[in-house]
Amino acid sequence: MSQSWSSELWRLIVDTAIGWIIGLVLGIPLWGIIVGMLVYVFLLGKRLRRFEKWLNQSLHEPDEFGGIVEELAFRIYRIRLRSRKRKKRLTEFLRRWQDSAGALPDAAVVIDRDGDIAWFNQTASTMLGLKPSDQSRPIVNLLRNPRFIHFLKAGDFSHHLEIASPLDISKILSIRISPYGNGQLMMLVTDVTHIQRLMTMRRDFIANVSHELRTPLTVIMGYLETLKEDESCDPDTIKQYLGRIEAPALRMKTLVEDLLLLSRLDTGAPTGIQTSSVINMSALIKTMVTDAEQLSQGQHRIVVDVDEELQLKGIEKEIYSACINLVTNAVRYTPEGGEVIIQWLVYGDGARFCVRDNGPGISADHLPRLTERFYRVDVGRSRSSGGTGLGLAIVKQVLRRHDAELHVDSELGKGTEFCCFFPQARVVFSGQSMSTAG
Ligand code: ADP
Repeated sequence: MSQSWSSELWRLIVDTAIGWIIGLVLGIPLWGIIVGMLVYVFLLGKRLRRFEKWLNQSLHEPDEFGGIVEELAFRIYRIRLRSRKRKKRLTEFLRRWQDSAGALPDAAVVIDRDGDIAWFNQTASTMLGLKPSDQSRPIVNLLRNPRFIHFLKAGDFSHHLEIASPLDISKILSIRISPYGNGQLMMLVTDVTHIQRLMTMRRDFIANVSHELRTPLTVIMGYLETLKEDESCDPDTIKQYLGRIEAPALRMKTLVEDLLLLSRLDTGAPTGIQTSSVINMSALIKTMVTDAEQLSQGQHRIVVDVDEELQLKGIEKEIYSACINLVTNAVRYTPEGGEVIIQWLVYGDGARFCVRDNGPGISADHLPRLTERFYRVDVGRSRSSGGTGLGLAIVKQVLRRHDAELHVDSELGKGTEFCCFFPQARVVFSGQSMSTAG
C-alpha cells in the first residue's frame, strides 16, 4: 500500500513540477503550480471514472489505473474473487442439501417463528398437497386438522402425532416436530399407513389364532374335567371320551401345522428357478387323486385331464401343499354327487393347474378376500369339514414363491374354478424347458 501511496504522491509532484516549470518559463510560477495540480486532479478523476466503470462490469482483472486507484482495484478484485468462490461453495452446498432433502421419503417442512411455511421439500407437495404459492402462508391454514393445530399450539414435541392425510383419509401420517435455531420448527411427516395396516393385521392374526385354538381346547378341557371329576368312569366311557377328544386335538394339530407351514413360506429363502428341481406333476397329481378319493369316500366324480409330458420346476412339497388344498377344498365344499375336474395343461407360453367343481360357488364380493388368512365364506361349513381358513393363504404364498398367479372364477349355484398359472420359465416339457425346446 505504501508503494502505491508513494507512486500516487510522485504523480502529484510530477504534474505540479511540470506546471511550475512551464509557469516559470511564462513568468507565472504560482499559476503553473495551480494548473499542474488541476491537471493531476483531472487525470485522477478520469482514472476514477474508469475504475467505477470496471467496478460495474462483471468480474475480471482490473485495468492499469495506476497509483492508489490500481491498488484499490486489485484489493477489491481479490475480495470479490474470494466471495465469488464462497458463494459458489454455498450455492453448491445449498443445491446438494435441497437435492438430498428432496429425495427424502418423508415430507419435510420448515416453519418459521410466526408459524408460516418457510420451506418444504418435494415429498411435502405430494404427501400434504403443498404448492409453491403456499410458502410464507401459515401452516395451520393448510393443515387444518384440529389435533394438529392443538399439537402445534401446545408446543410439546417430545412425542409424535398421528393424523389422517389431508389428501386421502384412508392414509395415516405420523408428524414429528423438532424446534431449532431462532424459534423455527422442522416438521417431518411419514406415511405410516403400511405399518399401521401391518400392526392391525398382526393383532387380527393373533386374535384369530387364539380364537381358533380356544374352541377345540375348551372341548378337550371339558372332557378332561369330566373324566377327572367322574371317579366311577368305566373303561368304555373313558374310551368314548377320549374318542371325542381326538377330533378337536386333530383340529389343533392341523391348525398348528398350517401355521408352521405358512411361517416357513413367509420367511423361507426364495425358490429360484436354477435351484428348483423338476417335479413330475402327473405322478404328483395321481397321489392327490388318491387322497381326494379317500376324502370323498366315493361321493364325488373325480375327473383328471393331465398332460403327461408337462413338468414343473419348483419345490415338490410346496407345490403339493398348494394343489392338494385346492383339490380337497373342491371335494369338501361340493355336495355329494358333485364333480371335481383336475387339469394340468399347457397354457400360452406356460402351464396351468386348475381345479373345477360344480359345488355351491362363491359370490363375487367374497372373491377378493379369499386368500386372506382365516377368511371364510361360511365359517360353520369350513370348520365342520376340518378347514383352518389358512388353505388359500398357503396356496397364494406357494404360488408367489414360484412366480405363479392364482385366478378364481366362480358363480353362485354353478361351481368354482381355481387356476394356478405358471410362467414359461417354470415349465419343462418332455425333459426340456419350454423356452429351450420351443
Ligand atoms: P378353509 O380351511 O376354510 O377351507 P381356505 O383358505 O381353503 O380355508 O378357503 C377359504 C374359504 O373359501 C373357505 O372357507 C370357503 O368358504 C371358500 N372356498 C374355498 N374353496 C371353495 C370351493 N371350491 N367352493 C366353495 N367355496 C370354497
